[in-house]
Amino acid sequence: MRTVATVAELRDQLDVARAGGLSIGLVPTMGALHEGHLSLIDRSVAENGFTVVTVFVNPTQFRPGEDLDAYPRKLAEDTALAAERGADLLFAPPVEEVYPDGFATSVSVGGITETLCGAPERRGHQHFDGVTTVVAKLFNMAGADRAYFGQKDAQQVAVIRRMAHDLNFRVQIVACPTVREADGLALSSRNAYLTPEERQRAGALSRALHSVAGALTEGETDAARLCELAHSELSPVDEVEYFEIVDPGTLEPLTTVGGPALAVVAARVGATRLIDNLALQPSTAAVSAPDTTNPTPQGAVI
Ligand code: AMP
Repeated sequence: MRTVATVAELRDQLDVARAGGLSIGLVPTMGALHEGHLSLIDRSVAENGFTVVTVFVNPTQFRPGEDLDAYPRKLAEDTALAAERGADLLFAPPVEEVYPDGFATSVSVGGITETLCGAPERRGHQHFDGVTTVVAKLFNMAGADRAYFGQKDAQQVAVIRRMAHDLNFRVQIVACPTVREADGLALSSRNAYLTPEERQRAGALSRALHSVAGALTEGETDAARLCELAHSELSPVDEVEYFEIVDPGTLEPLTTVGGPALAVVAARVGATRLIDNLALQPSTAAVSAPDTTNPTPQGAVI
């Protein structure tokens, strides 16, 4: 596996792969790779002749005062892990390669960026503008056939799908199942911030999601009552930013769960902000269950 830092080198490598008839899979990450990221690489390697992993801690998607400086950076370990899982190329550009002097463009998706993590009080629109701008750039830099994202960031996948559709990007967006720890906690680079005591309490997020799935199976379809139940399960966390049951396509809140739905949560444990979600189906239990070892290769959930 080669590592490159410039767009010119990236394009040279991908041109050679394309000329050899290989399909290209793109796995965008901010690094500090864990099994969640590696499951996306596995999926891309299985589905494409050539896989490029990007490691770029994108400054524009951090909110003011967020953890940009503290965000874990582990390029040597990331390189070894990506190579081990069969990636063909690692693209790790410096900030000035992505945002050179004079950079003045923003890609902004409306509608679904204004709710949940995008709500105005969370300055989330700014966050999603940072995400869509960098992902649009990566799509144009790589010209990939498929791009792999984690369902763990369900709103991010929905926003990227919207952008790719609206701007006629040719790339196929593939959403991959959330990889979890044994107690259900979704893997995240930010879990490294948790103290052992906070790590214990963080298990409440997935417990809340699963208790809602369980209550739905038993016939409770009223979203307000399901959210109440979730809030009681979430008592170990320090602050619940939101727990909502939403339409999986539009992310609009539901009042009754009569079909496929998504339970979504954002909470703080200590100083760490964690998010998670679970696909729900009335009376047939949760669509996806925690699985730490063998994420089922399946298509987009939303
Ligand atoms: P990040 O480095 O946090 O920006 O994540 C890069 C990609 O990995 C995104 O598409 C995430 O949704 C995905 N990802 C992060 N955590 C997980 C996880 N636990 N399971 C599956 N995908 C994940």
